[in-house]
Amino acid sequence: MPFIITDPCIDTKDTACVDVCPVDCIHPRKDEPEFEQTRMLYIHPEECIDCGACVPACPVAAIYDSVDSTPASQKDLIDANFIYRNGDPATIAQAEAIVKAHADSNPDLMAIPGPERAAAHNR
Ligand code: SF4
Ligand code: SF4
Repeated sequence: MPFIITDPCIDTKDTACVDVCPVDCIHPRKDEPEFEQTRMLYIHPEECIDCGACVPACPVAAIYDSVDSTPASQKDLIDANFIYRNGDPATIAQAEAIVKAHADSNPDLMAIPGPERAAAHNR
């Protein structure tokens, strides 16, 4: 069961999680051209080994440890994580479209500063 990145990452994107992931399954990295194209980062669902290292590294608590633990308000972003494939423009566009739809339909969450957004996920 892979870990899931959610909306506090939107516009935060500091890549602290990338630096601690032992299997390089979080993309795009800062040194990849896709980095400038995406609003957040994504975890590859088949490459993630569930080690948990990324969770404490994230300064905005954007990462949940499973699909089941991902709050209802963030469930749409599970598909964005699952669809995104670095280097594939089609899946990148699909994932980013999901993120845009999520942001557009959750203006209340997006109005909360990134570091405080996760605390509002379960309200
Ligand atoms: S749980 Fe481990 S393997 Fe999975 S994305 Fe986080 S750091 Fe990488
Ligand atoms: S550490 Fe958190 S905010 Fe930073 S890129 Fe990773 S998921 Fe996004």
